[in-house]
Amino acid sequence: MIVSKAMLWQRQRLQRIREWENTRRFPDFIDESAISGTLTENRRPSREAVLDIVEKARAHATTGELLSPAEVAALTHVDDPELWESIFETADWIKQTVYGNRIVLFAPLYVSSTCVNNCAYCGFRSTNSAVIRRDLTIPELQEEVRVLVNAGHKRLIMVYGESPDNDYRYICDTVAAAYRVKDGFGEIRRANINAPPLSVEEFRAVRSVGIGTYQVFQETYHRPTYRAVHPEGTLKGEYDWRLFSLHRAQEAGIDDVAIGVLFGLYDWRFELLGLLHHAMALEKEFGVGPHTISYPRLEPATNTPLASRSPWLVADEDFAKIVAIIRLMCPYTGSILTAREPAELRRKVIRKGGVSQMDAGSRIAVGGYGRMNEEHQPDRQQFLLSDTRSLDDFIYDLCQDGYLPSFCTAGYREGRTGANFMPLAKHATVKNFCIANGILSFEEYLQDYASPRVQQIGRQKVIPRYLKWLEENIPPLAGRVQGNLNRVREEAQRDLHF
Ligand code: SF4
Repeated sequence: MIVSKAMLWQRQRLQRIREWENTRRFPDFIDESAISGTLTENRRPSREAVLDIVEKARAHATTGELLSPAEVAALTHVDDPELWESIFETADWIKQTVYGNRIVLFAPLYVSSTCVNNCAYCGFRSTNSAVIRRDLTIPELQEEVRVLVNAGHKRLIMVYGESPDNDYRYICDTVAAAYRVKDGFGEIRRANINAPPLSVEEFRAVRSVGIGTYQVFQETYHRPTYRAVHPEGTLKGEYDWRLFSLHRAQEAGIDDVAIGVLFGLYDWRFELLGLLHHAMALEKEFGVGPHTISYPRLEPATNTPLASRSPWLVADEDFAKIVAIIRLMCPYTGSILTAREPAELRRKVIRKGGVSQMDAGSRIAVGGYGRMNEEHQPDRQQFLLSDTRSLDDFIYDLCQDGYLPSFCTAGYREGRTGANFMPLAKHATVKNFCIANGILSFEEYLQDYASPRVQQIGRQKVIPRYLKWLEENIPPLAGRVQGNLNRVREEAQRDLHF
């Protein structure tokens, strides 16, 4: 029998996973029957109990405490519309209290789509012959980055498949190549990663090239569902290897880690408790919870029936509830709402759910930014995207809705990561940096990339409004921001930050 390179590589990695299992020092933190029991016990919360939980969540905005599993379970069972209005209003209040009224912007960059796995919901799965797979070469990657920086982006989330051709060395090479791109004032200042689980040594190598946050989504915390959609014998089939990947990242010194669920594979109530237990486990072991939480919903994908027919697909109404509960449950975390969702729904959910980060002007085909005028390339995408507004149109809508669009990437370059970042977020003082750096990075966008209508609304309404907020709340910082604004405008200085 001929053994292919991919099969051999997969066997070797499975062997490595077995060795890791034998030395794993962290206890399991997903107890399915306990989670199901908590959901059942809290399925009829009284109005008073819900209002108490909402009040508690407000108090947590300045202490950074998590809600308990029982409290989160109770929130998932609320059916009174009036109580939901109170939950939505509180989610927005918490977000404003912790981060201020800014939305951090980023672009997804799909770097590779070759994959040895066979996830039932994914267009890139190995048995799907209807989708064309490729891994970008370094020059191709840099062309993609050039398109993005010339639109105004400063922050990426680089997305990888899992195969011998895009292993940790490829991740290191492509991240370093993305940082090398300079075009006028255009550059990437923070490259976050969404990639398969690695070993501690591999995480160390990836850390050394200066990545931002490392994301690994569990997809579903429910083991029977996990087994059903991730075939045994594949790397992705290894539930525990994935569950503890961010523990290994932390062991390797990557202190900004991000969790997420692919909603629609199993009961959303169960998945919310899975996310909470994951956040609790990271806090317990490392004193640092998730830097961000993502909540992508299952979307249609080429030749992938499960993506449209799962019995657990989440309705828009429930999706808004999920986002809001995450904000109440974990007040300090960044909350990422992606362009998977339609534009109108995103506009509603930002406010109702306390969202803090969004992508815009996104293309998700590998090489998709080189064909920017094609909104979709279904035969090259993992799934289908919904919100295809340009970055500039998206920013205009944000400005109209009263938000401060932010390209800030100062936090990790100023050492505000992991245990240094958490106290600022947990005590709601990080917003002082967020607003100041948001103003400066948005001014750079207005100077270098914005359309006339965005320049107009930005200069006449948005920047004055947030400068006023600083003057009223932190007068000494307002003066320093005004000074730096003048340097951006009159001396063409860039990347001034606090
Ligand atoms: S979800 Fe990820 S791991 Fe699974 S087949 Fe798709 S690209 Fe591969």
